[in-house]
Amino acid sequence: MTKITLSVCKAYKNSGMNRVHRKKTKKSWKHYFYDLDEEKFGTEWVSTLKALTLKRRVSKKKQMVCVECGYSFYAFLKKDTDECECPNCNE
Ligand SMILES: [Zn+2]
Repeated sequence: MTKITLSVCKAYKNSGMNRVHRKKTKKSWKHYFYDLDEEKFGTEWVSTLKALTLKRRVSKKKQMVCVECGYSFYAFLKKDTDECECPNCNE
């Protein structure tokens, strides 16, 4: 299973169930990802250790428009990068 990490954030596990948080409620890490094999978005609860690992490779899904041919496509961008190749021009 290939997952593209979209974001990792802290959230209350029972958020939505009751508006007032109980003092004992712990915050957990939630992993938002895009499953390339099943072509759908998903979420999962992860441990703090795994969350920190995932945070380092958060990708951004961006809609790009090629300036050469005007072809628009979705690309997953790594942080600190704005470059990606146009699938139309590179065929
Ligand atoms: Zn192009």
